[in-house]
This record gives sequence, structure tokens and C-alpha cells, in this order.
Amino acid sequence: MRQKIVAGNWKMNKNLDEAKELIKGIKKEVQAGLEDGTRVIIAPCFVNLHYAAKKTKKSTIEVAAQNMHQANSGAYTGEVSADMLTNLGVNIVILGHSERREYFGETDELLAQKVDAALENKLEVVFCFGELLEDRKSGNHFKVVENQLKKALFHLQEADFKNIILAYEPVWAIGTGETASPEQAQEIHAFVRELLTKKYGVETANAISILYGGSVKPANAKEIFSKPDVDGGLIGGAALKAEDFAAIIKSI
Ligand code: PEP
Repeated sequence: MRQKIVAGNWKMNKNLDEAKELIKGIKKEVQAGLEDGTRVIIAPCFVNLHYAAKKTKKSTIEVAAQNMHQANSGAYTGEVSADMLTNLGVNIVILGHSERREYFGETDELLAQKVDAALENKLEVVFCFGELLEDRKSGNHFKVVENQLKKALFHLQEADFKNIILAYEPVWAIGTGETASPEQAQEIHAFVRELLTKKYGVETANAISILYGGSVKPANAKEIFSKPDVDGGLIGGAALKAEDFAAIIKSI
């Protein structure tokens, strides 16, 4: 059985006071029995990770970072290493988000280094990938997705790949209110699972969770999650309200 996962990417939202409120709200909702075996992950910004990790330690909520540097330490002003994250009790990192690719120039080659550093430090990686609108319009979306995965991840050995959670996030659906249809999501997820089968074999391919991300809301989550190769969601905007996030978790 593949793990079902709902992860909330808070991006650059919520100061410490607001993060405290949101964590309190999510804990209340999750403790009220919403999760049903589903892994629930929250990804606050760096400065709130320490608080979030401490506050969720005894709960089933897990905490992820939104990024990290590929080096273990050194003269990289403003950066945060994998070791700094695990030392806080943060054991998951999101890598490859389209905003990191677009605004911070992160390439698949750089992401391959970050993935290696994360895995060496025993972090689980939520790896985001997905095509631009122009790729989809020109019919190149399969090729784009395949290239992203091959360049950033397919150097990994099978044992390491098992620590990857994939998140398909078509860029045209992120924060735009425009969701990929459940059929469009399933089509790509099935394509990715086929790529994984070819590379790592059917057992590993069937064990990897593939999340969908892009304007998932309480109103559309159930239909998207009902697709056989969609194992949960990476949620942006709707993860910033405890009730909405909880409703999405409940939809799985
Ligand atoms: C995201 O940024 O990962 C995301 C899916 O955002 P939203 O849900 O707001 O589209």
C-alpha cells in the first residue's frame, strides 16, 4: 500500500504569531481524528521551523522545510543546510518547487545536488516537477516532466529513491485557481509511474507516492484524490487555513 500524504506548503506566509495559531488549529483538527492513516506534513518558513518541530513532536503532524542548500556548511550567506534541519527535528525537505526554479534559477542539475545532500543527511525529499503552460499547449508536457525527473533524480540508486515523494505540480495551476482536471493529473501520474517502473522496477514504482499540487481546495480535492495514481496533494493557498487544510485531508 502506498502512503497517502497531504502536505501544506506555507511559502513566505505566516509570521511566528500567525504560525502558532495555524499549528494550533491544524493540531486540533488532526487530533479530532481526520487523518485516518494519512501522513500530514506542514512546511512553514525557515524561521518558524524550530517552533513547528517542537510543537508537533508528540503529534502525528510532520514538518518539512521548503528548501535547503546543497553544501553541508560553509560561507553561503543566508543559506540553510540539511544538517541544520535534521538537528531541529525536521526530516523532510521540499525541493524543486516551481517558484524556486523560476525566481531563484534552480536547475535540475542543481536540484540533483540538493537531492543528494538531503538523502545523505537522511532527509526525505518532496520533489516537485511540472510543465509550464507553453509546454502543455505545445504538447511537450510529457517530455518536460520526463527530463526533469531524469536529470534531477534518475542518478539515484533504488534504495535511495525510496526516500523520494514526488509532487506533480503543473506550473499553470499553481496559485492561479486553475486546477488540472483529475484526468490530466492521472494521465501524468500514470506516465510517471511507468517511467519509474522502467527505471526501478514495478515494486518500487508502486511504492512511491505521487502527490498532485496546483489549486487544490476542499471543493475539488475529493475528485482529484479519487484517481488511482494520485496519492495525495501538495497544497499551497488552501493550507493556510486550518479548516480548509483539514477538509482536504478528510477528502483523501
Ligand atoms: C504549491 O505552491 O505547491 C501549490 C500547489 O500552490 P496552490 O495550492 O496555491 O496552487
